[in-house]
Amino acid sequence: MSGKIEKITVDMHADRLEEDLDRYRKKAMELGASNALVVKAEDIPVDDRITLKCRIPRCFGYGAGAHCPPHAMKPSELRDILKQYRWAVFFIKDVPPEVIVRDKATIKERVAAYREVFKIVSDLESMAFYDGHYLAFGFAAGSCRHTYCGEHKTCQAMTGDRCRFALLSRPSMEAVGIDVYRMVAAVGWEIYPIGSSAKPADIPKGTLAGIVIVQ
Ligand code: SF4
Repeated sequence: MSGKIEKITVDMHADRLEEDLDRYRKKAMELGASNALVVKAEDIPVDDRITLKCRIPRCFGYGAGAHCPPHAMKPSELRDILKQYRWAVFFIKDVPPEVIVRDKATIKERVAAYREVFKIVSDLESMAFYDGHYLAFGFAAGSCRHTYCGEHKTCQAMTGDRCRFALLSRPSMEAVGIDVYRMVAAVGWEIYPIGSSAKPADIPKGTLAGIVIVQ
């Protein structure tokens, strides 16, 4: 982190919350987001059907990492927690079609794009924390099992050891039940359903998303 550490206040700096949220939105753009917005926590769509998509058809990450279902926070837990929050910073990162599709030839670029999203989330969350919004937390995109530990046989956090990337890795938005497609479409940005059979020529662009729930 860089910059001043703000003292904790009971109202969590309500007087400069708006200014801070806009600073985090701008920071997301500086760090490589294609679009970023301040959104209300009540407008984050959490749907139990989203994590069903991790199971059917079964994703490689399902059950294989501490931040993926069924080990990640359940949508019902998140729905309850969000009732106590008001504001979040939501962003997307556009990715070229040939990078977003599951092709071994572009695996390095794909992992790098996902890592950028994790880094934006962790940087914004850290900024908010040191600004005194100490209950801020964030979610990234995809599975950290693939993005950070693809070269390893196991998720270390599931075998009783420390997560190899404790400060960077997080559940994805979708792993906790956030309907990312709906949320992106609702704010007027573009997103396309990209499954295992998608061909780059048929996709206008890939989209990764992240969110930091500030307070
Ligand atoms: S980063 Fe690696 S060790 Fe940490 S939770 Fe994800 S898969 Fe497990």
